[in-house]
Amino acid sequence: MIKTDILIIGGGAAGLAAAQYGARAGRTVHLVEKLATGGQFMYIDKIENYPGIVEPISGFEVADRMLKQAQNFGANIIYDEFISFEKKGEKFFVKLKNEEVETFTIIWATGAVHRHLDIPGEEEFSGRGVSYCGTCDGPFFRGKRIMVIGGGDTALTDALYLSKLSDDVTLIHRRNRFRAQANLVDQVKNSNIKLEMEYRPLEILGDDKVTSIKLESTVDKSTKVLDADAVFIFAGMLPQTDLLDKSLLDDWGYVDANQKMETSLKGFYAIGDVRNTPFRQVVTAASDGAIAAHSASEYIDEVTNNKY
Ligand code: NAP
Repeated sequence: MIKTDILIIGGGAAGLAAAQYGARAGRTVHLVEKLATGGQFMYIDKIENYPGIVEPISGFEVADRMLKQAQNFGANIIYDEFISFEKKGEKFFVKLKNEEVETFTIIWATGAVHRHLDIPGEEEFSGRGVSYCGTCDGPFFRGKRIMVIGGGDTALTDALYLSKLSDDVTLIHRRNRFRAQANLVDQVKNSNIKLEMEYRPLEILGDDKVTSIKLESTVDKSTKVLDADAVFIFAGMLPQTDLLDKSLLDDWGYVDANQKMETSLKGFYAIGDVRNTPFRQVVTAASDGAIAAHSASEYIDEVTNNKY
């Protein structure tokens, strides 16, 4: 049984920042990650909007630096899978697949995963033209006919990235207004990306790989088929909260936490993309992590009467 002050579940930007701040505050910190730390970082080709990072660097590199920083301050990384927890008195008893942990606090930092469209052909051609990550799979479709689905920041950012690899990129969005930030919309409008506004994807077609996509007008229900080699889907994210009690969640399935990252369960915090936050960025995730580590540290002082 591992005994710790702060147990962090999830090793993306939020979790790694919490690990660094918690360890630097002198707490014993353990961070649980299933496969590899980094989270959504791994999908970011270049980070150029993190304050102080002037020369854009890859998400992978920032994640690696954050991991080293957290470990340098004494945080421990456990490669294992969270199963469940139980609170008894002031302590949480946590079951991982291969380990048990006793902790004063839990910081939930599991992030969110890509939403699927659930249309015919999507699963069938996944990995054979259908992708959810521009930076991972874009280079396979250099010079090819690329379709990008979605109107949020990710769709526009990745469409811009993909337009550097191919002159034939089409952005398909179901409404006549983008959800994305104005500056991205301007960049797209000034690029060679073709726009199919007010269309939604009905079906992805192909033989052994993607050959076309069928669209339906959201205005008059008319349909058309566009030839395609790749379909990149950026339809938003689903928070990773299946293993949590519904009482901790908001109506959209995100963990409800206040500005100190506290949830309705004392000693249990939520940070990053899995939290009900108005803005999901690396910088906000890192900030959440710092705040949660600070709140957890204060809480440990409170429950141990500063005798810890
Ligand atoms: P998002 O903002 O939720 O956008 C998802 C997009 O997919 C929306 O345009 C939505 O259309 C569309 N969509 C959803 N379901 C669909 C369906 N079944 N069929 C067709 N279209 C569908 O998700 P996101 O773009 O991944 O962004 C997530 C968060 O990360 C945001 O907070 C964003 O600001 C942040 N982010 C920031 C940056 C950056 O700053 N550079 C980059 C990436 C992400 P509607 O608009 O009609 O709902």
